[in-house]
Amino acid sequence: MPTTLDVLAIAAHRDDVEQTCGGTLLKMAQRGHRTGILDLTRGEMGTRGTAQDRAREAAEAAKILGASWREALDIPDGRVENTWENRLKVARVIRQQRPRVVILPYWKGRHPDHYIASLLGYEACFLAGLAKLDCSAAVPAAVGASASTAPLRAGCPQDSRQDAGATNVAVHRPFKIIYATLYYDIRPTFVVDITDQFEGRLQSIMAYKSQFTDQEAGKNIFPAAANIRSRVEAMARFFGMLAGVTYAEPFLQKEVGLVDDLLTIPVKSI
Ligand SMILES: [Zn+2]
Repeated sequence: MPTTLDVLAIAAHRDDVEQTCGGTLLKMAQRGHRTGILDLTRGEMGTRGTAQDRAREAAEAAKILGASWREALDIPDGRVENTWENRLKVARVIRQQRPRVVILPYWKGRHPDHYIASLLGYEACFLAGLAKLDCSAAVPAAVGASASTAPLRAGCPQDSRQDAGATNVAVHRPFKIIYATLYYDIRPTFVVDITDQFEGRLQSIMAYKSQFTDQEAGKNIFPAAANIRSRVEAMARFFGMLAGVTYAEPFLQKEVGLVDDLLTIPVKSI
């Protein structure tokens, strides 16, 4: 039986997870849960750095966050589309990694890759649970995979050379899907206290040196390195204040909260 994940965070770009829910992932890892990160793209369209820089930095950031698993799919950066083929690629990862909880980006945002990743991720979670759906032929290319990785052949007979091990990947649907809302101005339905994880999360963001060190390229889009800490801190403090803690990360769940004992409901009212 392969080891499975407790929590899988899915996002469009390497560094999205660090910026939106890195503290939460670190906290879960510190509690002994197995966490993973699936980046849909490899960052080849980024204003700064190359996809190779990004792969190295993503591995470093994953280590800082204590993640047990991280991969990037080969969906083109800047062109995340909710196609059948892309849904199968993500569904296959969900069947392989079998997370109980999936963290997706919120479904509205400035960058189309972010909000499309949200719907794509949700629909992939649904498809992964369909007993009669064979998604084994969609071959996700792992980080570092050669350019000759098998082309997508969804629905085609399986080629055992290119798809070794996929035959036993059983149907799986995550129990819970939550949405990381930090990129969008919406009131979260809950926040996670990351007071003890804040420094680690900041380090995981700063691991993307090609992005966040001062340079000429993208000078008008990226904050100066000296400002990053205060920006990240301001957001974390704001969401922390909503719940009476120092630092927090915001999430939204579509479902209602279930309460068993009124005396244990957290967050002071008055
Ligand atoms: Zn992004």
